[in-house]
Amino acid sequence: MPKYKVYLNEHIDEDALNTLQKYATVTNNLDELKDIDAMIIRAEKVSRSMIEESKKLKVIGKHGIGYDSIDIGAAKEHDVKVVYTPEANVQSVSELIIALMTNVVRNISLSFEKGKKGENKSIAPKELMGYQLNNKTLGLIGAGKIGLNTSKIAKHGFDMKIVVYDPFVTEQQCSQVGIEKVDRLEDLMMIADFVSVSVPLTKDTKHLINERALRFMKPHAVLINTSRGGVIDEKALYTFLAEKKLFAAASDVFEHEPPTSKNPLLSLDNFVATPHIGANTAEAMKLMGSTVVKEVITVLEG
Ligand code: NAD
Repeated sequence: MPKYKVYLNEHIDEDALNTLQKYATVTNNLDELKDIDAMIIRAEKVSRSMIEESKKLKVIGKHGIGYDSIDIGAAKEHDVKVVYTPEANVQSVSELIIALMTNVVRNISLSFEKGKKGENKSIAPKELMGYQLNNKTLGLIGAGKIGLNTSKIAKHGFDMKIVVYDPFVTEQQCSQVGIEKVDRLEDLMMIADFVSVSVPLTKDTKHLINERALRFMKPHAVLINTSRGGVIDEKALYTFLAEKKLFAAASDVFEHEPPTSKNPLLSLDNFVATPHIGANTAEAMKLMGSTVVKEVITVLEG
């Protein structure tokens, strides 16, 4: 007989679910919160009222890393542990960053429809002209797991020069992996051909990339966001892209997800959107599932 009850309302890897069910009965019924020992969430928000209603709750497991969707203050107050899967999707998100960079500078999204229609002959030579990543400067905002892993791929695969802005890493940590640290965000914005954002969403990083920061970017530069929508001021980004003060941007994340067709960014040819697929690979899903289940059970059994 399973000893625990766990709230889970989203899909997780089948093997992970089977392991969980050896220890716990799984419910997706919010009316049963008062009886649950744990929650496992992916995109779902965990509010203060959900935590307070769950009188027996010991642990919240976040399938992924960005736990900004959980009311951490309420969890702390009620002595509820929060566990997550810090390593599981790093490679998957890094590969998406490189894919988005390539997509933008090789016009892949724009070329797609033309390619399918066989419109090769009607393409003016300059229309789909691209750029190489090779030898360009990649500016990373946030030199944590995803930032550093992306720097490795960009450095070794494309000979890119890497510059990072992250007040919480030291110059020594950066030089050890052959990357340069700058102390001010504007310095990174001024020198990078590509800027990729990999920071958590906190009160300090909310709209970190605002009108002021965008003003420092080179007009031919590209901005990539796979972190959280709220880190970028979308209105300011729209203005810069629409007025061609910035070459292009690509984003996997939005301030309000899913974005509606009213989001003006989606109307721009120089903006590429993906629907929050950073961690959506078979490998990452498997590892996130097994890790979050293991972490939750460890707390419950502890
Ligand atoms: P991490 O915790 O390893 O690294 C985050 C880095 O950001 C740290 O080095 C930290 O020092 C730095 N940082 C914090 N505040 C900063 C600031 N004000 N300015 C500059 N740097 C700052 O996290 P990670 O694994 O690299 O992931 C980064 C973020 O990516 C996550 O928090 C999550 O929101 C997002 N993410 C998105 C997806 C997706 O599906 N698109 C998947 C995984 C993670």
